[in-house]
Amino acid sequence: MIKIPGRHEVCEKFKENGGKIAAVLPIHYPRALLRAFDFLPVEVWGPPHVDVSYGGAHLQPYVCSIVHNALSFLKTGGLDETDLIIVPHACDSLQGLGSILIDFVKPRQPVFPFYLPRGKRDEDLNFLMREIKALFENLSKITGKRPDDDTLMMKIEVEELADLKLKELYERRFRDRSQGNGAISNLEFYRIIRSREFLPAEDFIKLADESLEKLNFGGKGIPVIMSGIVPEPMEILDAIGEAGGKVVADDFACCGRRIYPPGNSRDPIERMARAIIDAPPDVTRGSLIEERFEHLKKLVEVTGARGVIFYTVKFCEPELFDLPELRNMLKEVGIPSVHIEVDIGDPLPHQTITRITAFLEVLE
Ligand code: SF4
Repeated sequence: MIKIPGRHEVCEKFKENGGKIAAVLPIHYPRALLRAFDFLPVEVWGPPHVDVSYGGAHLQPYVCSIVHNALSFLKTGGLDETDLIIVPHACDSLQGLGSILIDFVKPRQPVFPFYLPRGKRDEDLNFLMREIKALFENLSKITGKRPDDDTLMMKIEVEELADLKLKELYERRFRDRSQGNGAISNLEFYRIIRSREFLPAEDFIKLADESLEKLNFGGKGIPVIMSGIVPEPMEILDAIGEAGGKVVADDFACCGRRIYPPGNSRDPIERMARAIIDAPPDVTRGSLIEERFEHLKKLVEVTGARGVIFYTVKFCEPELFDLPELRNMLKEVGIPSVHIEVDIGDPLPHQTITRITAFLEVLE
């Protein structure tokens, strides 16, 4: 198996080389901009195992566990080694978290919100470019730096290459149909994919190349697609494998929805904005249900998946609004699906494993 360094180790090494760490909440933000200011973005998707009572003092019980856990993690010192916090406004809950941090909790680190447009029109692109410029100015104020266009472009090209490698890993996953022993499990595959959340792009490229060269992405299993926000708790991936399923693609906010396409604009701000605007459909960026349906249908066709597992976080309103219609549309074209809702901090309920097993039996 390929060794993936831990987050703490990665942060320590980056700091030893004079860099700083930015804790970034979900979902979309311009990675290259942060790297141009010598910040390593390290993403905070929860994490699952924290004492949530600390966040509960500021949040209503019906706010999702991603936000509850992130706030609790911060309050228990989990973000102490970071120098900056960025809160993209993906949804009302994250927008609320941004306000709580700025107005009440007031952590030691500066907190910068990052607003996202809800469409793909020219106005949306212009809005996002203004947001990226505002973030540039904020980063400039706290660092005293002003990276020029060449530096920005260099960082953009490295991030684009890392995104191409991410795409290549996914392609290998569904193309490799070899049945021999020694194939990586669903969990092992997602450990590699999700290292994009904290590894510097240069290191992720090396890890992807090594994985593509040395690992067996094939293996037996009923091919399925997962959709939702994040595959946490990650035990779900082993549970699917043990029930006979192979996850061949996903529409997760943390993974598949961030296979950003490479750009061609020579204006670095426009190129960073375009990458986010042109990413795969995402309800938090205002994508229509029809776009999400077409995307999932195409993923099923291309990967040969036999069904979709919607794996959502409890109280995630953006996902829940789309689901009934989206599942109906898939059903009408003969694509079966199942919906499982979890709290990322809870152990995987036995009932969930039973439902996954039953769903996979139907697909056999
Ligand atoms: S899980 Fe849903 S509600 Fe929670 S932060 Fe993510 S998008 Fe927002």
